Amino acid sequence: KRIPVIAANWKMYKTKDEALEFIFAVNGNVPERSQVESIICAPAILLNLLVKREGEHLRIGAQNMHYADEGAFTGENSPAQVKTAGADYILIGHSERRSYFGETDKDVNLKMQAAFKYDLTPILCVGEQLADRESHQTKHVLDAQLEKAFDKIDASKAVKTIIAYEPVWAIGTGKTATPEMANDTIKEVRAKVADLYGSEIAQSVRILYGGSVKPNNIHELLKESDIDGALIGGAALESNNFLVFTDAA
Ligand code: 13P
Repeated sequence: KRIPVIAANWKMYKTKDEALEFIFAVNGNVPERSQVESIICAPAILLNLLVKREGEHLRIGAQNMHYADEGAFTGENSPAQVKTAGADYILIGHSERRSYFGETDKDVNLKMQAAFKYDLTPILCVGEQLADRESHQTKHVLDAQLEKAFDKIDASKAVKTIIAYEPVWAIGTGKTATPEMANDTIKEVRAKVADLYGSEIAQSVRILYGGSVKPNNIHELLKESDIDGALIGGAALESNNFLVFTDAA
């Protein structure tokens, strides 16, 4: 059985006080970790503050890191810095990183390798653009992203990866993929993992849906056979909503 995952991606939102208000509201109120993995992916500068107050069942992740161990990379955070700040998870390859910050599949792969080196669980984001979907290239695009991301990652590590399927056209647009569409595409993602690592590993890997997930569509999405949870942006900034999501899982 795959334990469901509810991950909030705060993106570049929340000041220190807002982050504290959120953590006090949700801490102690999320389901047990053996039932649901509840994760907040926060800006790096807030990690420490949140980790100190995460409580027993909530976990904290970062949204980005450099892949190098250390170095002269002004403004970046190293994997060891993220890890020692207390993060357990790291978002890798979010479409906003890919499109606004020029992150390539090669960067994504190096960050995957760095994540495992520093014992961080990667939440690997993949997704097609609207033009890809309209030209029936979705499978091709996702297969290529997955193949490159998992290059040089062995099966014992791959199985720990959480994959988030986020169609780029559904992020922050209010356009959610229908549950059937999301499920069908996630099945294709799982099939690709099976190609790379075999069906046993593919059946164990958690694959999330992301893109305009809201309290009013989470239930129908999670009912689908292959959707193991959600990666949520805007709607998860609200602590009440976050608890709706973790309760739904
Ligand atoms: P929204 O939920 O705001 O559409 O964002 C999705 C996302 O990008 C999560 O990583």
